[in-house]
Amino acid sequence: MDKTLDDMPVERGENTAPPETSPAPPLFSFDDLSPDLRERVAAMGWVRPTPVQQQAIPLLQRGGDLIVQAKTGSGKTGAYLLPAVNAIDPAKAWTQVLVLVPTRELARQVYDVFLRLTEGTEVRGALVYGGVGYGEQTRALREGAHLVVGTPGRILDHVYRGTFTVGRVELLVIDEADELLSMGFYPALRKLRIQLPEERQTCLLSATIPYHVEELARSFLKDPERLILSKGEETVSTLEHYYYIVPPLQKERALINLLEMENPDTAIIFCNTKRDVEYVAEVLKNNGYDALHLTGDMPQNTRERTVKRMHEGTLRFIVATDVLARGIDISDLSHVFLYSIPEQVSVYIHRSGRTARAGKTGIAITLCEDIEEKRLLGIARQYHFEIVKRPLPTPEEVAARTGERLLVQMETEMLTLGLMDRERLQRFLPLAQSLASTEEGFQLIALLLDRAYIQGLHRPLFQPDRPPLHAVPKTEGQSPRPRRRGRRKT
Ligand code: AMP
Repeated sequence: MDKTLDDMPVERGENTAPPETSPAPPLFSFDDLSPDLRERVAAMGWVRPTPVQQQAIPLLQRGGDLIVQAKTGSGKTGAYLLPAVNAIDPAKAWTQVLVLVPTRELARQVYDVFLRLTEGTEVRGALVYGGVGYGEQTRALREGAHLVVGTPGRILDHVYRGTFTVGRVELLVIDEADELLSMGFYPALRKLRIQLPEERQTCLLSATIPYHVEELARSFLKDPERLILSKGEETVSTLEHYYYIVPPLQKERALINLLEMENPDTAIIFCNTKRDVEYVAEVLKNNGYDALHLTGDMPQNTRERTVKRMHEGTLRFIVATDVLARGIDISDLSHVFLYSIPEQVSVYIHRSGRTARAGKTGIAITLCEDIEEKRLLGIARQYHFEIVKRPLPTPEEVAARTGERLLVQMETEMLTLGLMDRERLQRFLPLAQSLASTEEGFQLIALLLDRAYIQGLHRPLFQPDRPPLHAVPKTEGQSPRPRRRGRRKT
């Protein structure tokens, strides 16, 4: 758990409706539940609602759309499941609540809480995710699940197969929206949206709200209210700072692993020296990533071209010295990586400031050597922000994450196959079966999966209707107007 349940104050976001039209409803208490449900909640050991439950539940019960910025550990699942379970009418034999989550594990967790909240009642549910057989899921859906929780790809698959209809969903929950996008579910979400009724309530939850999550919210939600869980420091609540202790010789491996885990749509990786910049860009390219480097000695038009490519969504990563932190304004990045701690303290602020613009949230990740930790913490103290130390992901965690993402990618592709494609696939079924039965065959399958994964890395995660990034080259101290000519010293 990231944080204890009770020590997180809840803030009303900027876009909360003005008090004269929508005064904040009274806080939710477990006394507001029916005696039966209260009993089941008590049986789970929940004594009082968490802050996010206190605030989100009355807003959801008011019927409007809602964006909640909350992390795992805040009690967010209860915040939507309690009102959902309360509102379900078991007499209606169709799906009234649909919960979309990014991973199988989270789907199981949510479903578990749902089962406990509905134990001994007539309310039925179904758990639907990819990578497993269809039989049990189809049965649960056919029996008329009132609530369905699952991953978007498989849910869409059931919709296309005619084993599930989402046409009468009254409450749609998009949980861990940032993760859903990071796992590559955007195409499935887009297709699913068309199948959903216009008239519905939608609740979107996300630990961070970068640009892409805002875009997703814009296409799924109408005039949403917002709840922001923060630590009470407005200036940094939109930007999260993390650091990892990394041995000097393992930095590039650590960076790759962190990129695999975070899977940012676009990011800048800052290094201190030109040599590091060129080296890191090369390592990224060798690992299949779209990456270009930028250093101060490169002509201005080359730099602008590179930034423009990121702006257009055809380049995912830029590795740069501080030329980019000061010289060119790219906003709306969800991630900034600091491959090395800057020599000058103020540069940390310049670098991390490339993300979390205009009220969006962003993440600044620093790779820190043991001996540099004290200095990094000193910077955090000096600039009054909280920086959190995290353990590096283990190879198993990276493998599980990349595997799950690849599965999403392949299943999404499967959904778009035409009849001819499907027929062609049949040719290879005997070979697939024989490969799956020997150790050598496994290696060959792993090779294919690796190729498919690398290929998938080049696909944009998210193609919004409008251009994703706002990039304006600017010179320090001048108005941010595009410059076409001349070189700038950095
Ligand atoms: P979540 O953020 O929904 O993943 O919840 C994190 C953990 O907090 C889970 O183990 C929940 O069972 C637990 N939890 C949720 N609501 C409450 C509550 N009101 N009181 C105590 N624990 C809770």
